[in-house]
Amino acid sequence: MHKITKSASFCYGHRLADHKGKCKNLHGHNGTAEVTLSSATLDSTQMVADFGDLGRALKQWLDENFDHKVILCSGDPLLKTLKEQGQQCFETAVNPTAEIMAQLIFKEMKALGFPVRKARVWETATSYATYSEDK
Ligand SMILES: [Zn+2]
Repeated sequence: MHKITKSASFCYGHRLADHKGKCKNLHGHNGTAEVTLSSATLDSTQMVADFGDLGRALKQWLDENFDHKVILCSGDPLLKTLKEQGQQCFETAVNPTAEIMAQLIFKEMKALGFPVRKARVWETATSYATYSEDK
């Protein structure tokens, strides 16, 4: 099995509703997203996919959705206030944890046709969440 991974960095703010610790407070991260593709075979250029194509798609999605935005659960009352102030927000159906962000990136890159194996979001230099459809 061949695998390739591309990463891209982004900045975001979020908070987690009902969190018992400090993550209940609005705070920010310099995060990194990684997307890994896999394929048993290579294309005619001997690649799983072109790093440039994957990198552009990943960066574009992050720029349009997560980068320099506040990511909040759609039930968070702060959303209304931030939007009224012209702040760009990204709404998630549930708490915007690194796990949920990794799942979103996985599904978005897969929807673009990439053979996605896993997606990972590094929330800090020592903490990441990975989503894959493997058992
Ligand atoms: Zn956080």
